Amino acid sequence: MYKTARRYRIYPAKKQEETLLRMVEVVRNLWNDALAHRRDAWENEVRSVTYFEQAKILTNERRVDSELGLLYSQSAQDILRRLDKAFKAFFSGVTRYPKFKPANAIISFTYPQAYNGSVKVNESTIRLSKVGEVPMVLHREVPTNGVLKTCTIIHEPNGDWYVSLIYDVSTTVSGPSNISSPVGVDLGLKSIIVTTDGVKIPHPSYLRKAERRLKRLQRSVSRKQRGSKNRAKIRRILAEHHAKIARQRKDFNHKLTTNLVRYHDAVFFEDLQVANMGRNHLLAKSIYDAGWGQILSFARYKEERVGGVFETVQSAYSTQECFSCGTLNPVTLDVREFDCAGCGRRLDRDLNAAWIVLKRGIAKVGQDMPELTPVEIRPPPSELNSGACPVVEAGTTRGGVHVQGTLPLEAHDTSCGRMSLTNSSVFAPDLFDGPMVHEPLQNPRDHLLVVTHGPPQRREGHRLGAATDGHANLGLPLCQLQAI
Ligand SMILES: [Zn+2]
Repeated sequence: MYKTARRYRIYPAKKQEETLLRMVEVVRNLWNDALAHRRDAWENEVRSVTYFEQAKILTNERRVDSELGLLYSQSAQDILRRLDKAFKAFFSGVTRYPKFKPANAIISFTYPQAYNGSVKVNESTIRLSKVGEVPMVLHREVPTNGVLKTCTIIHEPNGDWYVSLIYDVSTTVSGPSNISSPVGVDLGLKSIIVTTDGVKIPHPSYLRKAERRLKRLQRSVSRKQRGSKNRAKIRRILAEHHAKIARQRKDFNHKLTTNLVRYHDAVFFEDLQVANMGRNHLLAKSIYDAGWGQILSFARYKEERVGGVFETVQSAYSTQECFSCGTLNPVTLDVREFDCAGCGRRLDRDLNAAWIVLKRGIAKVGQDMPELTPVEIRPPPSELNSGACPVVEAGTTRGGVHVQGTLPLEAHDTSCGRMSLTNSSVFAPDLFDGPMVHEPLQNPRDHLLVVTHGPPQRREGHRLGAATDGHANLGLPLCQLQAI
């Protein structure tokens, strides 16, 4: 069972839009009143108001306040529940004090039990309790064998209306029995992702451009006089632009994660703790802009949908710990490349981090998958003593993956034959980015190369190549490899 969401644009008719706008106003007032109620109770009586207390008041109010009656009762309760959540998050130190919603805020409200008849999705319309049959563009199909759980109506500041539908989808896929193509992903500011495949994807330039324009617009708004017509006009353009960037980023993140999941049955990311990083103002903006949280959530549900593995690992020291020998290299954030103090290997910071993520991820899922062990079960980096430390123990076999010796060098698709090995170096100009791989192999016999075999399709097993006697043996059967 997994959850999946669909967001569709709706085009309410004039009458319906009037109703919706009134509902949105009710929502806004309800939020603001309930927030004021909590604030006053605290300021005057040093008393915390509970959700249930407010829900009870709401029930009574609905009997006398006809405007409140406009809103579906569960949607109104849901607003109070959201407020309760916001306060809980505030008290646990995660967020700031909940804010009042100004007139131009994005307002949304939810039908929390959309399956009980309050909402019905049809081919080109959606029926909403208290609104009616609203035209909707179903630009993609609703999930097959999905049960509609919640429906949220969203009013964007630019005036567009959307519904966000959450479905529970039952699935017959019962988790991975075999990991054959794992990948570690490092998230960055320069490259949005760097993977253990050696893929570096830069931040899309159109987003950068759009962000620059956003900054200009923001400056322009602040120059205009408060309450003036010009200011309102630019605010609207700004809102439009914000919405566009969000759509573009979402689209980009969808393509990115779809590809990751297509080629890898296990993806590992560093744990972002977005909330924590968000409080560091220097980093905060870039992090939110990059939409890392969105990438993680997309990758998670997509991987779970096909029965793959998604895992996050602790990210401490991921950019400083050498993926090969485990030495902690105390380098600052601006250093992109460095020589490992332990093994002398030249490390590309981001690629190294991706490998650390993969190693930790495999170790993590390996705990519940005995056939994956023993792969690198080591204490976290803080307890590490620097010095050579084998990455992988000998004799690990699982599915198509067999790891022997000390070091899986890289995982790559070699179907095009662009990779060659000599007894002193690996040469694969199309695949490798960074000098790390051009470094001589000190003892080729000790180094096994993990390569992706065959066409780059999901769940194609890995085969091992070994660099030995001056040439590469790629795609050898396991028994022969063990004999090397
Ligand atoms: Zn090292």
